[in-house]
Amino acid sequence: MIAPPPVYPVVSASGVHLTLADGRKLIDGMSSWWAVIHGYNHPRLNLALEKQIKSMAHVMFGGLTHTPAIDLARRLVALTPDPLDKVFLCDSGSVSVEVAIKMAIQYWQARGRPRKHRLLALAGGYHGDTFAAMSVCDPVTGMHHLFRGVLPQQFFAPRPGCRFGEPWDPDDVTEFAGLIGAHCDEIAAVILEPIVQGAGGMWFYHPEYLRQVRALCDAHDVLLITDEIATGFGRTGTLFACEHAGIVPDILCLGKALTSGYLTLAATLTTASVAETLSCGGAGCLMQGPTFMANPLACAVATASIDLLCESDWWQRSVQSIEQQLRDELAACIELPSVRDVRVLGAIGVIEMQESVDVRRLTPRFVESGIWLRPFDRQIYIMPPYVIEPQDLSCITDAVRRVLVEKGC
Ligand code: PMP
Repeated sequence: MIAPPPVYPVVSASGVHLTLADGRKLIDGMSSWWAVIHGYNHPRLNLALEKQIKSMAHVMFGGLTHTPAIDLARRLVALTPDPLDKVFLCDSGSVSVEVAIKMAIQYWQARGRPRKHRLLALAGGYHGDTFAAMSVCDPVTGMHHLFRGVLPQQFFAPRPGCRFGEPWDPDDVTEFAGLIGAHCDEIAAVILEPIVQGAGGMWFYHPEYLRQVRALCDAHDVLLITDEIATGFGRTGTLFACEHAGIVPDILCLGKALTSGYLTLAATLTTASVAETLSCGGAGCLMQGPTFMANPLACAVATASIDLLCESDWWQRSVQSIEQQLRDELAACIELPSVRDVRVLGAIGVIEMQESVDVRRLTPRFVESGIWLRPFDRQIYIMPPYVIEPQDLSCITDAVRRVLVEKGC
């Protein structure tokens, strides 16, 4: 039996620092899984919450609406590429993927093509923990395999092979093209994480792959869902990762950094054409009505977070300088025999270890070194809040190099 990893109690968090119950302070290199872009305990976000709680913490969103939801929807429509101008606010990233899948299925039902209800996803993809979301996660390494037989059966194309920033090989999309061509009568939508495959291996792939996928979806009458739950709001150096390829999806999922990690909220955006078509079907509207949909506190803090992000070009400058620093300071790790690859994109740095290394053993050493990183699978990954100071980021990269050398890694 595998021993469970240690768990560290946190008593407070401020800026880029986590304070443990025993008084130790850790510099956070994880942004609480991509979410906390503005740092913890931010005065402006705290204020937005305090203001909102005085008027209304929650109200049902069926038959009622409210200013925090309307303000947030307007911000999201303005921020995302045209023609994404319809917004569904839900309560977690996984649920926003469920919503996206339901939108696609209802769309084809409304168009009189109910056979189009399956998804084409990518090996190495990750889209969440709920059932439809699990069904489009990597079928081998994701959670899919544990539930094989009870999940909806989907189509899978191989993981994109060409790396971001390296030459494009047209063969990379051949198998995908074959699958979508052969099964387009059954496929409602393609779902993928644009540019960065996150939990399934922290892999950065070529933007041309996305452009080809967009063109193939159009050619075969298939919708494109992009899952930007992890990459949205600037993490890859552009506001949305799709911008690297200059494409726009039919349906876009956002979450995590939407509230800068304050509250659980996610959004699924689509075009007026998809929204109006699916509403014309027998159901008359999207069949989704969760209790905490568009929670006013979460909406208010999300609006404040977006306003903070868009105040100037500070986040672009910050993500660019994090990217440069990660490139400079992680480059030497490739010399270590246990390191298989080092890659950096935007405010994401990845050290991929050889298979022989048990990365879970590294976390306690990182904690002893005063940093918080939680390696997964074969990757040590660093994705700090955008507000991190260069000296704090250096503490993280120094500690990583030191731990790898000391461990004989
Ligand atoms: N999609 C992607 C790309 C993710 O990274 C995640 C979370 N790791 C999800 C979906 C699921 O989001 P949540 O954990 O908020 O349900």
